[in-house]
Amino acid sequence: MLSRTSHAPFAPFERGETPNERTVAVAYIIAEPCIGTKDTACVDVCPVDCIHPAKGRTYDDGRPTFDETPQLYIDPTECIDCGACVPVCPVTAIFPLEDLPEKWRAYTEINASYVVGGKFQPDRFQIRRN
Ligand code: SF4
Repeated sequence: MLSRTSHAPFAPFERGETPNERTVAVAYIIAEPCIGTKDTACVDVCPVDCIHPAKGRTYDDGRPTFDETPQLYIDPTECIDCGACVPVCPVTAIFPLEDLPEKWRAYTEINASYVVGGKFQPDRFQIRRN
């Protein structure tokens, strides 16, 4: 079973089999093909509303909105690994972590740099923008 520990949301994802670990689904990642496209079909089908920023939505935490980001991002702690977003993406930008092409490995952190657990990560996101 793929799993990651709940105490290390930014750590590399791990394959863990320890029975006492709280296991959660492996996050999906939005990679480079989203840049310049930002099709929102994924946002519409996501059952837990963990793909941000949503078009036309404003956020109280000051995060960049849809028009201000180069791509969309999946919140790695809220994604339930359902896979619904994958087939609706017209540019094949979304991958389960285990299938993410090596050339787009950095997008794991890029996704997490925007939002984790529903919270904007301003410092991390600023680093990624520079
Ligand atoms: Fe949302 Fe499911 Fe895609 Fe995760 S895998 S971002 S829960 S639609």
